[in-house]
Amino acid sequence: MIITCNADIRRIDYNKILSEIKEKGFEADILRGLEKNQRPIIGLKGDCSTIDTGDFLKLKGVSDVKRISNKYKLASREYNLEDTVVKLGNISIGNGYDAVFMAGPCAVESEHQILRIAEEVKQQGAVILRGGAFKPRTYARSFEGLGEEGLKYLKKAKEKTGLYIVTEVMSPETVELVSKYSDILQIGARNMQNYDLLDKLGRQRKPVLLKRGITATIDEFLGAADRIMLGGNNNVMLCLRGVRTFDNSQRYPADLYAIPYLREKSHLPIVFDPSHATGKRSLVPSIAKMAIAGGVNGLLIETHYNPSEAKCDGAQMILSEEIGPLVRFARNLK
Ligand code: PEP
Ligand code: MN
Repeated sequence: MIITCNADIRRIDYNKILSEIKEKGFEADILRGLEKNQRPIIGLKGDCSTIDTGDFLKLKGVSDVKRISNKYKLASREYNLEDTVVKLGNISIGNGYDAVFMAGPCAVESEHQILRIAEEVKQQGAVILRGGAFKPRTYARSFEGLGEEGLKYLKKAKEKTGLYIVTEVMSPETVELVSKYSDILQIGARNMQNYDLLDKLGRQRKPVLLKRGITATIDEFLGAADRIMLGGNNNVMLCLRGVRTFDNSQRYPADLYAIPYLREKSHLPIVFDPSHATGKRSLVPSIAKMAIAGGVNGLLIETHYNPSEAKCDGAQMILSEEIGPLVRFARNLK
């Protein structure tokens, strides 16, 4: 439920609304506080079906009380008309056309590899380093990452370059461990419906990069985001990475259509991963440019100095030096 107040509401009346919410046993989510000439907007979390909207409408200074009709309430545009901006130090993700670049290898494979790639992608204009230490693999005999050792190398790369770190967390049990070494926690496509993991990430405050499941509908995707937010964590980013279709010419055909659609349906930042979407190095820059032109807030791109030596996803990795032209393309579009 959303309560919109008059722009000239007095502080005493505003506080009265907040205490009424508390008295009814709900948590107030200040979507816009008391600001000069602005209408304060307050969200109510949880199941509001038992509340009589009239109880709030009759309060002084309230101009409108609205129920959210869709199932993924907190993630919906109805809930928050303003775009959510996820902040990491001086970096803002969700800030109009200012696409943020997250680049690095599929997996952290050695200290030398991640330190070298970190230096390279930083030079090219990336601000966040990606790299998996815990890798979900389809086949059990594949390389599954270095675990905590890989996390330590990521941290070292951060200390050397100042890049922020995004890395995947695969289970609720490892959330504390992965958080210790990273700035953004990635939920992989395979785990988009791991509800214990979503709930756990909702109860902590690090930003979450939620990847779309390979056969997930947009409603299911936003439902997963809502689940994280219900725990109190509003720092959620939606990452498109292609979906499975009848067309097997691409690894997971790029779901570019979902960029403007998500923009309408949600206030959360949108990130695009052209690497897993294409599965093919030569296609990555073109799909990345389409995503940038489509208005994404960030890109997640797999890069390497020598893709042929990578233990996973080498075929879709671009050279680090291919990041620079994409960064410039994005800047020119601003
Ligand atoms: C990844 O980004 O490393 C990854 C495993 O991607 P996805 O979960 O989208 O398959
Ligand atoms: Mn990969």
